Amino acid sequence: MTGNALSGNPPQARVHSVRTGRHTLIRFAVISLLTLMAVPELSAQRSQLKPPWNMYSPQKDVQLGKQNAELLKRHVILCNAPKVDAYLTQLGLRLAAKLPTRGIQYPWEFHCINSKEINAFALPGGFVFVNRGAIEVSDNEAQLAAVMAHELSHVALRHGTAQASKAQLAQGAAGIFGGLFGGSTGGALLTQGVALGAGGVLLHYSRTDETQADVLGTQALYDTGYDPRAMAQFFEKLEGETKGKNPPQFLSDHPNPGNRVERVDEEIDKLGGPPPDAKRDSSEFEAIKREVMALPVVKNGAPPIAAVPQPPSANFVEYEATAYRVKYPDNWKKYEEGGSTTFAPDGAIAQSGALAYGMIVNVNQVKLDPNDPSALENVTQQFIQDLRKANPGLRVARNSGRVKLNGEPGLSTYLTNDSPAGGQETDWLITVLQPQGLVAFLCVAPQAAFSNYEKTFASMLDTVRLAK
Ligand SMILES: [Zn+2]
Repeated sequence: MTGNALSGNPPQARVHSVRTGRHTLIRFAVISLLTLMAVPELSAQRSQLKPPWNMYSPQKDVQLGKQNAELLKRHVILCNAPKVDAYLTQLGLRLAAKLPTRGIQYPWEFHCINSKEINAFALPGGFVFVNRGAIEVSDNEAQLAAVMAHELSHVALRHGTAQASKAQLAQGAAGIFGGLFGGSTGGALLTQGVALGAGGVLLHYSRTDETQADVLGTQALYDTGYDPRAMAQFFEKLEGETKGKNPPQFLSDHPNPGNRVERVDEEIDKLGGPPPDAKRDSSEFEAIKREVMALPVVKNGAPPIAAVPQPPSANFVEYEATAYRVKYPDNWKKYEEGGSTTFAPDGAIAQSGALAYGMIVNVNQVKLDPNDPSALENVTQQFIQDLRKANPGLRVARNSGRVKLNGEPGLSTYLTNDSPAGGQETDWLITVLQPQGLVAFLCVAPQAAFSNYEKTFASMLDTVRLAK
């Protein structure tokens, strides 16, 4: 029962890493042509924009956006400024309310990233990230609203998955999402650059997309009462700021369609000219910009594991998966991907994707010989071997011993590995066999801190309820 006991599961879940999960090839339903047609509901003169051909359903936009947003949140350093996020959210929602979404409910989310690079991007489905650099470079609220309106227009016109549709067509049946995060080592290899690159298909737009986003964004600015000229101003400013330097990622994701200013001006004319009392700035924007400028500067590439995380809270919240339920400290976050869920405090995941403090729960389908009395031992050994493939530093520190988990026979194994926080870590692995497969609870902390976490891990394991 070794060998292919875990067949179908690539070496996954590097011990201290969070895997990407399987981004399965989409078995999509071809969506109705009706949803592709622009509904002319706006005034007769303004340009009507037709979303490009798209082979994915709007639900796929949301699913892909959500998956990628979760990944991104782990690989970028967020501003961690609730007031800034709240401000971006209310500004973004006001703009989104003016966009034609063709009956699709997008779960809009807005986050500030602590990066000085001038960039902003929106994943399909409405997951919007604005770098502090984009806020700092904006002269006024209208300019920030402009770049956001442009991003939100890409979402409403579903440009990300339209680009993916083209890529998919070009690659035949190979499937692009399967390859995006490719590699059997899963999330472990994802650096920020790779994560953004992975989103590249979803974030790199054509010149036609750019013109559409400019025009629709200009309309949204106008409809929310902002000076629509801010759209062209922001892009001109961006081009000017970066003359002679390496162009920021923003400009390679959003290629200049040419005649940008003229096209925006033309649309403003169609709208009847800029409104005389158009809003350009607000004291709120100025206050937010000051707050953003005062945020600590995070060096590019600096691992977020700079300090020891906050101690785990004694208050637990419940998480429910198909195969199990578990409670975890309410000051930890959960990250779900494929068959794997990670529970970790803020700042516990390195830029490499490696987990320094927390628990990873994996559910792995296994083929079992019903007559094998050592099935649990065998699949656990296979699981550890798979972990070692991705973690050359992994060692078994103490051989597996029998335990009970929620009344079920389980195995407890102690391992050591290189910690992303430096030095060695202890990995406490509890495995149990369920109808869904091998359920593995992997508790991770640096060796020196393990005794501080052991009580929390044990309490979490006590709360486990297996779905039988
Ligand atoms: Zn764009």
